[in-house]
Amino acid sequence: MVSAPSGAGKTTLVERIRQTPNLFYSVSCTTRAPRPGEIDGQDYRFLSDPDFRERIAKGDFLEHAHVHGDHYGTLREPVVTNLKGGKDVLIDIDTQGAAVIRNCGDPVILDALADVFIMPPDLEELRKRLLKRGTETMEQIDSRLTTASREMEHWRDYRYTIISGSVEEDLQRFRQIMEAESYLSRRLVQK
Ligand code: 5GP
Repeated sequence: MVSAPSGAGKTTLVERIRQTPNLFYSVSCTTRAPRPGEIDGQDYRFLSDPDFRERIAKGDFLEHAHVHGDHYGTLREPVVTNLKGGKDVLIDIDTQGAAVIRNCGDPVILDALADVFIMPPDLEELRKRLLKRGTETMEQIDSRLTTASREMEHWRDYRYTIISGSVEEDLQRFRQIMEAESYLSRRLVQK
C-alpha cells in the first residue's frame, strides 16, 4: 500500500513499480474526470456518481473515501483474488483509505500488508510540482496542499517512509522495501 500527498511524484513512481513482474496493480474506481492521457481501466475505472453508489451498496469496495470532492474506492475482489494467487498487489491510496485497510480484518490482506508513505520534501516543493503539472486550477492546488499537510501528519502510521527525492531514488528505495518484505521469515515459511 502506498500513500503520498498528490503531486509528490507518486504517479510516476507507481507507473514504474507497476512494471514489476508478478505484480498486480489495484485500479481504483473514481468519480473524478479523467486527466488528459488517463485511460479508463488502466489509471482508474472512471464511474458516474450513480454507478459508484451502486457499487457501495453492493459492498464491492474494500474501502472508499471522499477526496477533493470526488469518490475514490478500492475494489475488494481483485485484491483478494490476486493475493490468493500468490501475486504482490499494489494499492495506491490516501491516508484515510489506508487506515480502513489496516482495520479491514481480512487475514489474507493483513498478512500481505506493507505500507509505505512517500513524504514530499516540503510543501513549497509540492506546490512547485503541482504548478509544473498544470492539471489543476489555483483553487484546486490550494485544496490539495491543505489535504497534503493534513496527510503528512500520518506518516508515522506507515511501516516505511520514503522522503521523496528524484523518481529514480524513490523507485530504488521502494524496490528495496519490496525486497526486504519478501525476506520476512513468516513469508518464507508460507512459501
Ligand atoms: P488523484 O485524483 O490525484 O489521482 O488522487 C487523489 C487522491 O486520491 C490521492 O491521494 C490518491 O492516493 C487517492 N486515491 C486514489 N485511489 C484511491 C482509492 O481507491 N481509495 C482512496 N481512499 N483513495 C484513493
